[in-house]
Amino acid sequence: MEQNIARQVTRVFVEGQTSTTMANRTRPFNNRTCEAPYLIFLGPPGSGKGTQAEKLHQNFRLVQISTGNLFREHISNGTELGVKVKDILAKGELVPDDLTIGMVVDRLAKPDTIMGVVFDGFPRTLDQALALQYRLDEKRKCITAVIQFKISDEQIIERLSSRRMCPKDNTIYNLKSNAPKHDEQCDLCGTLLVMRNDDKPEVVGHRLQVYRQQTEPLIEFYREQDMLVEIDASRGIEEITTQMDEWMPMFIYDAN
Ligand code: AMP
Repeated sequence: MEQNIARQVTRVFVEGQTSTTMANRTRPFNNRTCEAPYLIFLGPPGSGKGTQAEKLHQNFRLVQISTGNLFREHISNGTELGVKVKDILAKGELVPDDLTIGMVVDRLAKPDTIMGVVFDGFPRTLDQALALQYRLDEKRKCITAVIQFKISDEQIIERLSSRRMCPKDNTIYNLKSNAPKHDEQCDLCGTLLVMRNDDKPEVVGHRLQVYRQQTEPLIEFYREQDMLVEIDASRGIEEITTQMDEWMPMFIYDAN
């Protein structure tokens, strides 16, 4: 499995080129030059994408673009976009593509994204995936790899029932497997943790259905482009982080 991944990722970096330095990579399917790692985390709600994206941000300085967090920030700031999407999030539906893509394009325009990004919860539809590729092509950047977080529905339901979030800084906890140090308070800022409205059992089933119908087809889309790398997301946070840390040099540096 490890070797497979190394081969897969190596191919992403080296096929058809002589130099694979950080500043000059070529992706296999269109021979464009890429400059920095752009990783996509793909997986159902509750599969741990957000937690691991946060670790990559802390450990490797990748910018975390979490569309769910961005929408929640808009909602709590009462922006025009926040007002538009509030009910959509509460019902566990997807926000329309034009609003989502527009928000991501705005975020990608900020200069901090130049050294690499981890996309957490984006893209979630084929149109979003195509828009992202188009946008990165325009900026002469490319997707380095797509990490598929694999986990069963039963585990997701179990995890989401005990997931809590800090409404101030979006830090994620799990009362069973990643509990805060003091009662239900954020370790970082002391704010009282909340259960997300869309983590309530009546919404979770619908979110999983939406994932199956609209997002799961992306797995094949990326597999066909040799970009997909699978990770067993049923394991504990530390184990997955260790695995990601082992893989990162392959995503960041010359894999030769
Ligand atoms: P998440 O925190 O990733 O589970 O996202 C929470 C909610 O935000 C989702 O259930 C959707 O309502 C909305 N959302 C997040 N990302 C997207 C996306 N890429 N496309 C459409 N809606 C999204």
